[in-house]
Amino acid sequence: MNRLEVDFCVVGGGPAGLTLALLLARSGTRVAVVEKAKSLDREYRGEILQPGALALLDELGVWPGIRQRGGYQLSRFRLVDRGRVLMNIDYRALPAPFDFLFSVPQRHVIEELHKACLGQENLSVLEGASVHSLIFDGSRVTGVIRGSGERAGEVRAHCVVAADGRYSKVRKLADIAYDRIEAFEHDVLWFKLPAHERAVHDVQVFRDAGSPALLHDSYPGRLQIGWTLPHRGYRQLAARGIEHVKEQIARAVPPYADLVHEEITSLNDMTLLDVFAGTARTWARDGLVLIGDSAHTHGPIGAQGVNLAIQDAVCAHPVLMKSLRAGDPSTAALGEFERLRRPAIEKVIALQSRQAKAMLSTGRITNALRPVLARALAHTPVYRKVLDQIAFGDRQVRIHSELLVA
Ligand SMILES: Cc1cc2nc3c(=O)[nH]c(=O)nc-3n(C[C@H](O)[C@H](O)[C@H](O)COP(=O)(O)OP(=O)(O)OC[C@H]3O[C@@H](n4cnc5c(N)ncnc54)[C@H](O)[C@@H]3O)c2cc1C
Repeated sequence: MNRLEVDFCVVGGGPAGLTLALLLARSGTRVAVVEKAKSLDREYRGEILQPGALALLDELGVWPGIRQRGGYQLSRFRLVDRGRVLMNIDYRALPAPFDFLFSVPQRHVIEELHKACLGQENLSVLEGASVHSLIFDGSRVTGVIRGSGERAGEVRAHCVVAADGRYSKVRKLADIAYDRIEAFEHDVLWFKLPAHERAVHDVQVFRDAGSPALLHDSYPGRLQIGWTLPHRGYRQLAARGIEHVKEQIARAVPPYADLVHEEITSLNDMTLLDVFAGTARTWARDGLVLIGDSAHTHGPIGAQGVNLAIQDAVCAHPVLMKSLRAGDPSTAALGEFERLRRPAIEKVIALQSRQAKAMLSTGRITNALRPVLARALAHTPVYRKVLDQIAFGDRQVRIHSELLVA
């Protein structure tokens, strides 16, 4: 079995893992990223980037490359109810240059981060083998084992970082409990339609006769629709067949009903998202830190996942550097990350749950109150606070450039 010894072993080459690996390598440490996918030809989720993430990607120097590959600059997040705009969160009220949402294939973001990582001599990206075991010295995590047979390898490190997503294997291997919060009444069926001249130019919660839908332009030339259905109701719905499902969706988005009928031919043309929030009970133990979706998971409303994943990486960077310099990978040292970051994450979970209730729930009273509340909110200072919170999250999160040597 081949063996590699580094300062940091980052499991997962998604937005959280690659951002952190890049920062650690630019700080002069030896880093290995272990990614289970063989290549960048894999499935990606999450296309809407918030200004907070854009500003950090810019500081990392990868934003110009992402932008050049193409994407859509969207100015508003709107709640549209039977043709009436009830809420219009306008990003142009934010300070330039990042006063917009950016709709971009996540692959573009990953490719640019990956390219930047490959430019670091002290960083190896090991692709095509999953982490399936942790190595322990007593209770301290000291490395991982990846792959099997001839491809098996061992990576030993001062600290292992779990950045392996919402169903984190590393979290399970470390026996860290995960608290799933059933804060949402809906799951979401995602699909794309060719949009051509029917682009929406913003991100919308769209309400009409059927169940609400989330809509946004998806680069290039498509419209992404997330149709909401009762939480855990998919099996019952699917059992009624594709034509029934299409009817329901067409009722929900009448302007695109023709495209729904023409373009969707089977249930396989759609992806079900089990919507839940949740957090790992602890984000650090001796020799191990959890970041991104592995530490906390979010619902789709307000497009927060990538933003938070990148901010986690930026926030974990100085904590990990301090731990390495002090030769102290204890829970107490690494737990500093959780102490700094958990309050911001809990705020996001609470806000998303309120947003989902206000925008997606149905019922006579809620339907009657929604326009009144939306109008009232638009004229209070809360509106600006909500915009700031969705767009930037914790504004204190900044890259510690004094730690960067390359
Ligand atoms: C349908 C859907 C739509 C979404 N839309 C948005 C959106 O519009 N905007 C937004 O901000 N967020 C969105 N999100 C959330 C967003 O995709 C995630 O929050 C974000 O990708 C989390 O980044 P991460 O790096 O923590 O994890 P991930 O992106 O999940 O990356 C984890 C990586 O770890 C790898 N991995 C997993 N297990 C192992 C293992 N055992 N060994 C080695 N590698 C492993 C995976 O292959 C993957 O590359 C959406 C999510 C879904 C499911």
